[in-house]
Amino acid sequence: MSTGKLPPAADGLQLNFCKTLACRNFGLSDKKFYLLQDTDPSRPSLVCRECGAFPPLLNNHAVMDEYLRLKAQDSGNLAACSTQGCPAHGLPVLTHREHYHAFGYSGERQRYRCKHCQSTFVDKWSNANPKIDVQQKLLGLLFTGYAVREICRKLAINPKTFYDHLDQIAARCRNKLASVDARFLQMATNTPLASSLVPLQPKSDNGVMWLTTGDAEHGYILLQNINYSAAEEKPDHLADVFDASSRLMPDAFHPNGEIHLQKSSDLLTQVNDKYKEVLSRSNVEDPYTRPIRVDYPSKGCLIRPQYTAYAQYLRLKELLESWDSFTLYLPQEPLMRSAMMSIFKERLMAQTCHPIYVEQNAHWVEGSAASNIDIMLLSWWRDRWAFTQEGTAAKAICHLGRETGSEEAWLQDASTQVVYQYQARFHQHFRSLIDEPRRRLRPGGLLPLLDIFRAWNNLCNQNSEGITPAQALGLTRHPYTLAHLLA
Ligand SMILES: [Zn+2]
Ligand SMILES: [Zn+2]
Repeated sequence: MSTGKLPPAADGLQLNFCKTLACRNFGLSDKKFYLLQDTDPSRPSLVCRECGAFPPLLNNHAVMDEYLRLKAQDSGNLAACSTQGCPAHGLPVLTHREHYHAFGYSGERQRYRCKHCQSTFVDKWSNANPKIDVQQKLLGLLFTGYAVREICRKLAINPKTFYDHLDQIAARCRNKLASVDARFLQMATNTPLASSLVPLQPKSDNGVMWLTTGDAEHGYILLQNINYSAAEEKPDHLADVFDASSRLMPDAFHPNGEIHLQKSSDLLTQVNDKYKEVLSRSNVEDPYTRPIRVDYPSKGCLIRPQYTAYAQYLRLKELLESWDSFTLYLPQEPLMRSAMMSIFKERLMAQTCHPIYVEQNAHWVEGSAASNIDIMLLSWWRDRWAFTQEGTAAKAICHLGRETGSEEAWLQDASTQVVYQYQARFHQHFRSLIDEPRRRLRPGGLLPLLDIFRAWNNLCNQNSEGITPAQALGLTRHPYTLAHLLA
């Protein structure tokens, strides 16, 4: 507990500041610019003296923890130097070859030596996959929609073996993706990106959300993570933001008074309803701080979603370092907006980053031209929205950096549809697995499936012209088959 202080910075990372771009306190963390209080929990802890904004406090160390956890999950199994403190520590051979020498073989596997610390290590995934036959059958059945117990019966394996295979397949997929991802970051520098957020298991109410970011035109998915950690345990009490465990959610939800938002067919009403829902949260960045029912997973721990979003955008910042500028389309959700505005504050001030809210109704046809544009300032934040309507079709955009002048083009081009379609396809393909009664409270088993699905989507999944997202971006020449993923 602490009065009148900001949570301390972590490794130079301080995310507590005014997030109103037009305010002169934007991005500044000197506490003299703010009113700070922690005696009345019903009032904001931090209020900007200049513009009155009340950004929720964040534990910077916890953001860092979540970022490192995410990074380890994505690249933990890739061959890399493992010497603590070595300049090449954790840099995969696949994408950072300049740090390593090939150093003979260990059996059939390639051995490498680190140029800095001379340590040697083996690339576990460099040999031919000895289990390719059974794993290819397993994947084929999984993608055809069979339940786990049916697959086990057909292949005469037990569930433990099934999940072991799944983990190994996921590791191979991450390995395959690492080099194509590196090419994406070198070659797709003008591609607009999009983020999307949906429940991982739509029928479960288990509190696990799934955040993805990828290319907005062809649907090449770059980053995805869920606000769930299988390896940690849920805390038994609500921790305040100064506590190191503040990123972990206890099982303490209040369903009384829960309001189910019906999406209005009128887009302006829908956007306004969303702002009302956001202001009913005690923390505007955390959808779980309003009356809501959550059936807490029976194992592992839920992560506060803002830490998930900040961690993903920290990863994005690191990946996009060499991009001169970028555009990111996102749904109207302050959870992602705040993460975006905080992580990319320098780019926002330099106008080299364009975060744009996009909402549209079911009648909108992708790529339609926008006519009759109405500009409206909405909600407490006075967000500047541009609406267009043609018959029953409606679409709206809002540039979070408050840039103006390109509304017509943004209304036509901005879209989060392909990243949402990616998630919808996952739900469709693996419905029987995702909705298994036992699985609903055990989301951990779906983690390897997410890696496998990202690889399949990016490298194997062909559109009506027979082109995969990786091909459309010029990253690969041919569609991969399941056998390619496993080789
Ligand atoms: Zn301010
Ligand atoms: Zn080294």
